[in-house]
Amino acid sequence: MATVAEPIKRPRIKQTQCFIGGKWQDAVSGKRFATIDPATEELLAEVAEGDAADIDLAAKAARKAFESGPWSRMDARDRGRVLYRLADLIEEELNDLAALESLDNGKPVRDARAADLPLVIDCLRYYAGYADKIHGSTIPVRGNYFTYTRKEPVGVVGQIIPWNFPMLMTAWKWGPALAAGCTVVMKPAEQTPLTCLRMAALAQEAGVPDGVINVVPGFGPTAGGAIVKHPGIDKVAFTGEHLTAQIIMREAAQSLKRLTFELGGKSPNVILADSDIEKAVQGTNFGLFFNQGQCCCAGSRVFVEERVHDEVVDRLTSLASSRRLGDPLSPDTEQGPQVDQAQFNKIMSYIQKGKTEGAKCLTGGDRNGDRGYFIKPTIFADVNDNMSIAKDEIFGPVMSILKFKDWEDLIQRANNTFYGLAAAVWTRDISKAHDFARRVRAGTIWVNCYDVFDAAAPFGGFKMSGQGRELGEDGLRPYTETKTVTIALG
Ligand code: ADP
Repeated sequence: MATVAEPIKRPRIKQTQCFIGGKWQDAVSGKRFATIDPATEELLAEVAEGDAADIDLAAKAARKAFESGPWSRMDARDRGRVLYRLADLIEEELNDLAALESLDNGKPVRDARAADLPLVIDCLRYYAGYADKIHGSTIPVRGNYFTYTRKEPVGVVGQIIPWNFPMLMTAWKWGPALAAGCTVVMKPAEQTPLTCLRMAALAQEAGVPDGVINVVPGFGPTAGGAIVKHPGIDKVAFTGEHLTAQIIMREAAQSLKRLTFELGGKSPNVILADSDIEKAVQGTNFGLFFNQGQCCCAGSRVFVEERVHDEVVDRLTSLASSRRLGDPLSPDTEQGPQVDQAQFNKIMSYIQKGKTEGAKCLTGGDRNGDRGYFIKPTIFADVNDNMSIAKDEIFGPVMSILKFKDWEDLIQRANNTFYGLAAAVWTRDISKAHDFARRVRAGTIWVNCYDVFDAAAPFGGFKMSGQGRELGEDGLRPYTETKTVTIALG
């Protein structure tokens, strides 16, 4: 008989203020905003609502720490040790942090434990190891000169992150910034501020000097907008929607900030008839429904070769309809609620569009229960390339299945999107795998797997899915400036 595991104890919420210059403080305006439990729609906590005045304080604290604080004088190797210590503290608190993430975001605690937290820790350790390996080169130039380059930190960086992987996005941003010697003004997403604030407290405990990390919770156009416009911030790293990135690019023009973007996607996931169908179906189910479908790289356009189409559709439908929805804090839960009412409404409207535009809804297609933002795992078949559900990023548990017959036609259809974040192919044909990897214009290609992430493997988008890369050595580059030094010899 299957046992139902006990729900995890609700974690205590310890930090709800702005963290500026090493101090916890209310917003200058005194305003607070609500963060909601998406599983129950009840209030979790009231959090300080930062705005331009708080961003200004944070930017000044970060500037001071960058230019005259201990951070600017610390040996690179010691900076690395601080990052290692932060990773250790997060590891010690892994279960509580996973529960807090689950509570604020709605993701199943088992995913937070098995995926988010280990990736957070790995990312911080990876960049900790990089801190003392960032160096320039000596360059042979014409004439009697000695020329070398220095890799210097870009300065004060503004970091704006979304709500789908709050802690992981924090680590992806802090890791390379701190390794490079930058200081940070971060704004977590308004839906999920709690774990980023907790990480700031752990960073202080780990020995990150005051002012090096500043966290200002608040809303996008106000607190986020103030980061983008602030003349004392040198660079903005942003993860979110391409429409927001367009606003940021316009607003950053005034101070010509360096910009990196990690944006959305409508990733093709292709199943060929020669593939290991069981693995392909399992991987495809995971590649879309993981994290309630709230992944920028979700494999939301599933192309299935005609010969195996019906079998694959049946198997995907039966897998999706057996997913366990429920309390995210229960270790048995496979799917939690969507993050908030706005996302819930957006996804439901796409489900409605799919039905109206003539796709066949095979499972789901409706909300689950009457409390919390739960949506049943939904599969549409008979989808064609022009339907909204095949073109737009839905960011929810909605899979669109498209049929294909011809390989050349498939490559063209896979590329027929302004996004270019990720793509996957399931096949035993090595030539087809390489052909796909070469011709599909996306930043990440998975072959016979999906959602395989590693701190060392660069991630980011072609086309309107982004600018620059995160993770790996590529992820470090945007946090450094190259300085060329030329010395006349004799
Ligand atoms: P999502 O749809 O995933 O919420 P957004 O791009 O709206 O994507 O949000 C991602 C992050 O960007 C959040 O922290 C949000 O507050 C912030 N944000 C939203 N609008 C702006 C803006 N105009 N300027 C700066 N940051 C913004």
